[in-house]
Amino acid sequence: MSIQGRKALVTGGSRGIGAAIAKRLAADGATVAITYAGNKAAADATVAAIESAGGTAYAFQAEAADPSSQRSGVAQAAAALGGIDILVHNAGVAEFSVVTEDSDETFDRQFGVNVKGLHVGTRAALPHLAGGARIILIGSISGEKAFPATSVYSATKAAVAALARGWAKDLAPRGILVNTVQPGPIDTDMNPADSEFAQQMIGAIPLGRYGRVEEIAGAVAFFAGPDASYITGTTLNIDGGASA
Ligand code: NDP
Repeated sequence: MSIQGRKALVTGGSRGIGAAIAKRLAADGATVAITYAGNKAAADATVAAIESAGGTAYAFQAEAADPSSQRSGVAQAAAALGGIDILVHNAGVAEFSVVTEDSDETFDRQFGVNVKGLHVGTRAALPHLAGGARIILIGSISGEKAFPATSVYSATKAAVAALARGWAKDLAPRGILVNTVQPGPIDTDMNPADSEFAQQMIGAIPLGRYGRVEEIAGAVAFFAGPDASYITGTTLNIDGGASA
């Protein structure tokens, strides 16, 4: 219950890693708002799971790549929560292709959601963030390590970690701490553990398996809580040793 009573916004909280983060923060005592792109049924299911466990949660549709929609989602969340203490930028897309197959559209889409969405969302949230607030960004080990056919996605995730380092310095005077969690392969709709791609990836993971969404949520809870009070501007890889 280390974050009891805190107010948390998790973008992309309807499914996968974001849903696990929302549930974990709620289980630790936070009131939670999530955003989602289009999957209202999944968003409602996340809210229902939190509320059936005794928590309080809200869901708002917000397209991360659309600045006005993203700003509206943040504003609605801040109003429902009565402020924001914990902002988790989790929403992301991956559109993998080799450079000869890349297009302007897939470049703009990935940078729009994965990078610009975070920039717009953080600026929208700043007036609602109290001193001592935490901003946690979900990057990827792809931001530091190349994998086949992922150069644009990797570039977005390198940008995510760079934004976090810069914001950590910009916002330190306000007591706002900013860190990046960089998952390795995690079993979700984006990266199912039973795919052919996964079978190739597992050979490169020392622990020999995909990660679970809860294993990312635990790290986010740590960065959101009192034990992380002297940590800002850092990245934490959670990848079964894949980037070692
Ligand atoms: P999923 O595809 O399983 O879930 C994505 C979530 O983000 C959903 O809640 C989805 O909403 C939301 N979302 C997608 N696009 C948008 C958008 N344009 N605007 C707003 N919300 C959006 O992904 P994961 O859970 O696997 O990934 C979560 C984060 O973790 C991403 O940033 C991803 O890059 C990162 N990551 C994932 C890894 C993995 O192996 N799974 C590895 C490394 C990093 P909706 O349900 O409405 O579609």
